[in-house]
Amino acid sequence: MTTVNQVLARIDSMIPRPLDPERISLDQSLHRILRDSIQSPEDQPPFHRSSIDGYLTHSNQNPGKVRLLPPRLPGDPTPVLPSLDTALRIFTGSPLPSGAALIMQEDTRILPDQEIELLKKPSASLVRPQGSHARKGDTLLDSPSLLQPGSLALLASLGITQPKVSRLPRVAHLVTGSELVDPSDLPQTGEIRDSNSIMIRSLLLSVPANPVWHGRIGDDRRGFAQSLAEALLHKPDLVLLSGGSSVGDHDHTGSVLEELGFKILIRQVAVRPGKPLILAQKGDTLAFGLPGNPLSHFVCFHVFVRRALNRWVNQPERPLLQAELLPGTELKTDPRETWWPCHLSSRSSTLTASPLPWRDSSDLSCLAQANGLLRIPAGQEAGSPVEVLPTISW
Ligand code: AMP
Ligand code: MG
Repeated sequence: MTTVNQVLARIDSMIPRPLDPERISLDQSLHRILRDSIQSPEDQPPFHRSSIDGYLTHSNQNPGKVRLLPPRLPGDPTPVLPSLDTALRIFTGSPLPSGAALIMQEDTRILPDQEIELLKKPSASLVRPQGSHARKGDTLLDSPSLLQPGSLALLASLGITQPKVSRLPRVAHLVTGSELVDPSDLPQTGEIRDSNSIMIRSLLLSVPANPVWHGRIGDDRRGFAQSLAEALLHKPDLVLLSGGSSVGDHDHTGSVLEELGFKILIRQVAVRPGKPLILAQKGDTLAFGLPGNPLSHFVCFHVFVRRALNRWVNQPERPLLQAELLPGTELKTDPRETWWPCHLSSRSSTLTASPLPWRDSSDLSCLAQANGLLRIPAGQEAGSPVEVLPTISW
């Protein structure tokens, strides 16, 4: 049986390079991966600026009484340097001439007849000098990097309104199973509610993905092939198929993929939960046949599907977290590599992983609390430190 690392290596080799980049507006760019490093087009700040609300004077100005010059407005161009014994009202961010000194409003006293008293010596240290944040040509954002609200603000300040980012992989999602009913329906005996659809739809919101198609069908093979053909019309980079990936009489995922021209590369993986995992390829399109059992579904998405999505957008893989294993649930040794749902928390500067109980791969009661999967290598006992794959942003 194929090991987890072999599957990951296979995925990496099937996606040798990221998808072509695209230019999009800043409003669409949150959590996208930047594909060009960004150099400052000019000095930052581009001119000497005031860091205070107060008054501008000559740098040789001493404390005492000075005459006020006619006021100016925010956004006015750089004023000339006031001569000695005069002062100009300025505001935070106002442009300043060379040789400026500043005094805070709180360190002055208003006098009658357009005069003020400077209660201390004005200081040049209140000036934000041109280029003190960055010089023209300095690299301000590396590539690849994940665009966060702060990076978008930085790009906006530089006038970069159409950053070059990775295109999001187009994802089609087809859920199979004649026993499934909509979560809003009352299942009859033998039926269960479809929980994988909402699981995958919401997981796809938290990863780099563009969901382009979603469908749910029964176990009729012809209907399956028709739905998959319809999904392929949407030119997905990735097809996710829920259920039917095992060897039961109604498990058609492998044969339907082959009928539609996919090559099956992997049929079973030595992973717990999640053994009946199919990986297939047709041209540039990848397909995962994910086991229908919800816990297996969750684990296979995080361990394998995320790997493919991250490679498509050039998102570097983060190393697994190292955590202290909290005793509690008994973690049985297994010949298959195990990814055990856990709750991660940080206590007094230590990251701790509390394993959550699960009875079998259909038991999704632990998933409401799970924010990580702890890795137990094949045939080994779990012990501290343990490696954890976070399942939420951490
Ligand atoms: P399968 O992979 O199709 O053999 O399904 C394995 C188990 O997972 C069966 O007990 C199914 O009822 C269950 N299952 C399949 N699809 C879903 C789904 N969308 N939501 C919840 N359980 C499912
Ligand atoms: Mg099924």
